[in-house]
Formats: sequence, C-alpha cells, structure tokens
Amino acid sequence: LEDQLHHAQKMESVGRLAGGVAHDFNNMLMIIIGYADLLLADKHPNDPEQDPLKQILSAAVRARNLTKQLLSFARKQVMTLKPMDLNEVIRGFRQMMNRMVGEDVAVDFALEETPLWVKADVSLIEQILMNMAVNAKDAMPRGGRLLFETMTVELDEPGICSNCLEVTPGRYALLKISDTGLGMDPETAQNCFEPFFTTKAMGKGTGLGLSTVYGIVKQHLGDVKVLSQPGTGTTFMIYLPIGAQAPVPLPSPEKARDDVPG
Ligand code: ADP
Repeated sequence: LEDQLHHAQKMESVGRLAGGVAHDFNNMLMIIIGYADLLLADKHPNDPEQDPLKQILSAAVRARNLTKQLLSFARKQVMTLKPMDLNEVIRGFRQMMNRMVGEDVAVDFALEETPLWVKADVSLIEQILMNMAVNAKDAMPRGGRLLFETMTVELDEPGICSNCLEVTPGRYALLKISDTGLGMDPETAQNCFEPFFTTKAMGKGTGLGLSTVYGIVKQHLGDVKVLSQPGTGTTFMIYLPIGAQAPVPLPSPEKARDDVPG
C-alpha cells in the first residue's frame, strides 16, 4: 500500500510540474518551428543552409511532440465514460495499428465473440492501444507478431502477494497485448510503469507511455500487469471492469406506437 501511495504521489507531483513547464515550452517551440519553416520555405533546394535549418526544424518538432506528451500526461485526464464494446474499439483501430507498426510486424486479433461492454472513455482507450503499439514496434526492430486478445474473467478477492491485482472482485474484461520482441529484464519489468523510466536512447523514449497507460487504467478502476522475458517477448494484461450494459436504443416513434398494448 505504501508503494501504491508513493507512486500516486509521485505521479501527481510530476504531473503538476510537467504540465506547467510543458505549456510554456510548447509556445516557445511553436515560434521556433514557425520561423524555421518560414526560412526553409525561402531557401533554394541546393542552398547549403537548407540542411541545418531542417535539423533545427526536426529537433523542434521532436521537442514539441515531447511537450505534447507531457501535457496529456499532466492533464488530469477528464473522462467521459460511456458504455462501449471493447472488441469494437479494438477492431476499429485495426488499420491505424497496421500502419503504425509497419510491414514487418503482423498484427493479429483474437477477440471474444460476444461484445465486451465496459464503461470507458473511448479516446483514452485508444491512447492505450496507441502507446502499446508504439512500444511493441520499438521492441521488434526485425519484425515479429503483435497480438490483441480479449476475454472475460472473474476476479476473486486477492490473497496476500506483492504482485496481486489491485481491483475489487468482480467481472473484468481482460485485454492481453503480446509481442514477440526483445522483452524486458526483471528490473525493467518492475519499473516500466514509472513516469520517466525509459531504456531507450536520448530523444527516442520519454518514459511516459506506460505511466500514462497505468494512469488511464487506474482511472477506469482497472489494473495492468506485465509478463516479460528477454528474448521471448512481452505480454501486457489490462483489466477493465465490466459493468456496463449495451446502451438501450431510444424507441423510435413507430416502435413506441407498436408497443402500445392492446
Ligand atoms: P518509452 O517507450 O518512452 O521508453 P514507456 O513508459 O512507454 O516509455 O516504456 C518504458 C520502458 O518499458 C521502455 O523504455 C522499455 O524498456 C520498456 N517496454 C515498454 N514496452 C515494451 C515492450 N513491448 N517490449 C519490451 N520492453 C518494453
């Protein structure tokens, strides 16, 4: 519990700090990007100054992407919870996913046949899928397989264990995301959800992807675990409470008339 509290406090203060700085930084970066763009547009294609200007532009764009991530991390994400079929959302993301991971990664789906109704914020769930796909791609530089599986599970009161799920007992949608990538050593697996923890090279990783995922899942009263082995691959298990029913469609006027007894 102390660990959990520590994590929550850390997330909170990191978030507040990051949000404040990121906003101002973003504005300054927009100026750099704007002027670099302007100068570049004026240059002749074989002007020797083109190259350094492009470098400035690409660095500034990378920095802006980082501040964007910081901002979305810092914002206490406002959720709009709606009943949604998790399978449907994943299916709808198929194309995007294929494009993101590139040709060398096969994306497969093993989704439960019946709809999986969870009460969730679609754009936040999509953010989870996106962060997971980016990480999987990075973990499979020579290609591989990325698998999305869903199922329904019944969770009991957890016993005493250090790595137990922290959820109230009940029915959960389980989304398993597995890749055949590089995997993680035990220390990485233990720390991967920490904000700013990254094993990637400077400029390549922010260490915010998985802590964002963790935050979103927790906000949905779920939990996330990782199973990984170096050289074999990684599986993330995301648990989201099933509670929602399929939305009841409003009866159309005709239907209502039909329903009148007698
Ligand atoms: P980033 O991707 O910017 O490093 P994340 O929070 O998304 O930040 O991930 C933290 C770390 O967890 C990564 O640097 C990497 O070491 C590890 N990691 C995340 N996803 C995977 C994966 N699918 N396979 C192997 N390692 C991973």
